[in-house]
Amino acid sequence: MANDRIYNFSAGPSMLPLSVLEKAASEITNYNGSGMSVMEMSHRSKVYQDIFDQTKADVKRILNVPDTHEVLFMQGGATFQFAAIPLNLMGKTGKADYAITGNFANLAAKEAKKYGEVHVAATSAEKNHTYIPSQSELDLSADASYFYYCANNTIYGTEWDYVPETNGVPVVCDMSSNIASKPIDVSKYGIIYAGVQKNMAPAGMALVIIDKSLAGSEMAMTPTIMNYKTMIDKDSMYNTPPCYNIYMLGLVMKWIEANGGLEGMKELRDTRSGMLYNYLDESDFFIACADKAARSGMNVTFRTNDPELDAKFCKEATAAGFSNLKGHRNVGGMRASIYNAMPVEGIEKLVAFMKDFEIKNK
Ligand SMILES: *Cc1c(COP(=O)(O)O)cnc(C)c1O
Repeated sequence: MANDRIYNFSAGPSMLPLSVLEKAASEITNYNGSGMSVMEMSHRSKVYQDIFDQTKADVKRILNVPDTHEVLFMQGGATFQFAAIPLNLMGKTGKADYAITGNFANLAAKEAKKYGEVHVAATSAEKNHTYIPSQSELDLSADASYFYYCANNTIYGTEWDYVPETNGVPVVCDMSSNIASKPIDVSKYGIIYAGVQKNMAPAGMALVIIDKSLAGSEMAMTPTIMNYKTMIDKDSMYNTPPCYNIYMLGLVMKWIEANGGLEGMKELRDTRSGMLYNYLDESDFFIACADKAARSGMNVTFRTNDPELDAKFCKEATAAGFSNLKGHRNVGGMRASIYNAMPVEGIEKLVAFMKDFEIKNK
């Protein structure tokens, strides 16, 4: 670690690999002999088209995207997709199933209600989203245009450990906070999308992986910029794409590949989250917030039994170089967001700091 960097546990935007930032810095005024920054290039130039094509090919290869699916880069982050999904897909039957296991799934369902009937297939709200419903608890509609869920609940620190079985109804999944952290079977999904600022790139863009057969049945009122068919036909360049984000995503993809691909990311993720949860289970001072079976490998929520001690912990942790550990107001306590770029050493040091805090404050 460059010694002026801190361990940043922000839920998003969040840490990027240091080597990626350094590579971007080395190219910032002159990309590969072009005499220009990537930020200054025409998106229609050959030099930029090569960056774009390479990034897209890397995403396809590393995320193991089958030819049935297309990779899109869209502006507007994850929230843009909350509207794009119903506008493009809900017209088929006028209805969709939503599993509401956290804040972002709830926001997505609210947005979808503007365009059709939302059936709540499951909700964990009655237990403040501390658990994930099982397959048998899902109340699925046979006539849903799609089934929607959020794979990792960033605020609550819970994560689905299975892909719901929906009897042929397309599965749409928000993977904003756990994409590229473990291998997934893309063929099981109609749409996977992710705001890239948690695990992959700077904020402002969503990666969308869509089964091409789902595009083309959008509602007539769908804005062109949200139309998946247009985006597929124009290869994400209906208008100027988020050029620099795409370049940064490409650098992160190369970093993921150099670190063992998605298998390597999963190993790192299990190591990081395992260290934290093991300590939380041992400790009789800190308490893990989420149900054991639903624990997220990306966002670890925990607390003491005293909100004043929680505040003291966050303050002292910040002073010690561990930033953004304050939990979301819906949960309270603390949250350590430990995405792909968080070094294992950051967790070792955080656990040592927590142990010390426990001894001094118990
Ligand atoms: C951060 C986040 C979002 C919102 O992303 P924006 O890019 O700010 O719209 C949506 N879903 C999940 C799971 C998130 O973690």
